Amino acid sequence: MYNNKKGVNTICTHVGEVKDEQFKGAISPIYMSTSYAFEDVDVKRYPRYYNTPNQEALCKKIAALEHTQAALLFGSGMAAISHALMAFLKTGDHIVLQQTLYGGTYNFAVTQFEKYGISYSFTQGWEVSDFEEAIQGNTKAIYIETPSNPLLTITDLKGIANLCERRGLLSMIDNTFASPINQNPADFGIDVILHSATKYMGGHSDICAGAVAASQEHIDTIWHSAICFGGSLSDQTVWLLERSLKTMGLRVQAQNQNAMVLARFLREHQAVDKVYYPGLSTHPGHTIAKEQMHGFGGMLSFELNETIDPSAFLKELRLIKPSMSLAGVESTMLLPVQTSHALMSPEDRAKQGIKDGLIRFSVGIEDIADIIGDIEQAVEKAGIKMEIAE
Ligand SMILES: *Cc1c(COP(=O)(O)O)cnc(C)c1O
Repeated sequence: MYNNKKGVNTICTHVGEVKDEQFKGAISPIYMSTSYAFEDVDVKRYPRYYNTPNQEALCKKIAALEHTQAALLFGSGMAAISHALMAFLKTGDHIVLQQTLYGGTYNFAVTQFEKYGISYSFTQGWEVSDFEEAIQGNTKAIYIETPSNPLLTITDLKGIANLCERRGLLSMIDNTFASPINQNPADFGIDVILHSATKYMGGHSDICAGAVAASQEHIDTIWHSAICFGGSLSDQTVWLLERSLKTMGLRVQAQNQNAMVLARFLREHQAVDKVYYPGLSTHPGHTIAKEQMHGFGGMLSFELNETIDPSAFLKELRLIKPSMSLAGVESTMLLPVQTSHALMSPEDRAKQGIKDGLIRFSVGIEDIADIIGDIEQAVEKAGIKMEIAE
């Protein structure tokens, strides 16, 4: 199961291929069957049992990429997250959640847990001590997200894994922002690794999927409740995701490189007040990020200064798309205050350090000169509009 010996791009390209024994085709055939013979076979296959040929094969690739024994695929990132949470938590249990969570996960916690008698606490910050302080007698798990959305805060993976081991807790991470290319939490002892495969794994803004990677024991636990909840992924999408994953290493590498150049460019820009990127030595999480990440990722955020109206700036962009989603090969930007964090009160946003002028930037694979050129022309046009308005 472990494919640590193979290079990451070899794993992306080859591990878990379905062999085309009949025609010797170069790629995995797709099996859309929902019905499989049950006589004289070991495995009772069915899509909602998460064990069709394409699902099983792709899970091998994902497990190899995350350095775990096993994996499962789901119909969305939220299906992966909710199925995993509900597999491990029961009435009377408590979970510690990182303060800065993906909006959908936050929403799941505040709207669903109470119905099942599960209690939860959000941490005050993202230091290991913040998590330790929030632990109660009935705490079962700690749930983290690093780098986080949208300020790219960094949580110490080794510190959290050690804390969980000491206190007998399950550690869970949303590893979506890093992707398995930039961060492998299992190497630091984190138990359950969650992905929205809609993001870097898919990478082309055209499929919705989710994944969980963990030990065989944890995957078995998740499987037993996941077959009841039924959030499996269509084999058509499994097949598309396999194709996407073949280039994930190359895509993410290009995004890492572009993001680093852009973080430095924006930091020096006179229209920009602040840049948040774990690759910058000025980022508070830089030292830990360097220890636990292979690359700093394609996500960054920045604040324009008061000479530029951020909404006007976004309207003037020609190449970079204003878009809700992230991690595609195309560059996108959004204002968290108008989108991902719009439902949060201004006080809660302030508490998390999310200013009204903050822009989240999902860096694509376009040529760096074209991305920089687009930012330059948009700053100029938005700046002139501001002058006229005054
Ligand atoms: C998008 C996202 C999710 C949810 O994934 P879906 O595929 O939209 O359900 C979860 N976590 C993070 C960090 C995300 O960016």
